[in-house]
Amino acid sequence: GEAPAPAPGRPAILPGVRHVIAVASGKGGVGKSTTAVNLALGLRAQGLAVGLLDADIHGPSAPTLLGLRGQPRLGPGRRLLPMEAFGLKAMSMGVLVDAETAMIWRGPMVMSAITQMLAEVDWGRLDVLVVDMPPGTGDAQLAIAQGARLSGAVIVSTPQDLALIDARRGIAMFRKLDVPILGLIENMAQFLCPTCGSTHAIFGTGGAEAEAARLGVPFLGPVPLTMELRHASDRGQPVTALDPDGPLGQIYQALARSIA
Ligand code: ADP
Repeated sequence: GEAPAPAPGRPAILPGVRHVIAVASGKGGVGKSTTAVNLALGLRAQGLAVGLLDADIHGPSAPTLLGLRGQPRLGPGRRLLPMEAFGLKAMSMGVLVDAETAMIWRGPMVMSAITQMLAEVDWGRLDVLVVDMPPGTGDAQLAIAQGARLSGAVIVSTPQDLALIDARRGIAMFRKLDVPILGLIENMAQFLCPTCGSTHAIFGTGGAEAEAARLGVPFLGPVPLTMELRHASDRGQPVTALDPDGPLGQIYQALARSIA
């Protein structure tokens, strides 16, 4: 659809940003935020100017994943300046609103917070803005998809059937909005056991790839379930920033190349 014209006296939404890419999932806990952060870092490793917008109001994870501390500053025109982490510009609902306040927000509050965050952050010039979407396919997701003029969407799913069903809903939503689906990433695809060294396909194999084929969307690849990835995330030291050429860093760089 047509992007609404900005209200008089208001800056156009995301004026210096060339591409906005949503990272979405049908449900929470599948690793959407981990994927969004590492994909953003993978794009950065390709030499692009990249921002990360954590729009997950009820479960913002960028402050933890990127170790963001303190409050963002105001820049010219009293617009919010993004924070900086590992060469990314970053903004998160989590640094703007405290968790308990956001928790009790109902639909209209969530919508106005999203609209404000899209309009009032001064990203400067970016090649790509990666948006960590709230999980699911409700009004908040719709508001971002329409307000941010998305260039494309990446869907993250675990191999379990339930997560895949939810992923299908996400794909249907973006299709309805004419947002191209850049592909499906299967997270926690197999477990790499640090003790025995072998790989265990806890949720089975091939489900997400087969589903991607059925849905006619590119399969971007599997990401294994590893202790290292979880530890790195919890410490605020994402793997793709710390060790871009390590096994996991290479996986995310390859994923980034496949959508760049
Ligand atoms: P979501 O954004 O979908 O809610 P997160 O990215 O916050 O999911 O991930 C949920 C939890 O799973 C986090 O503790 C994260 O560190 C962990 N996690 C995500 N992906 C992996 C993975 N491939 N291997 C190990 N842990 C992972």
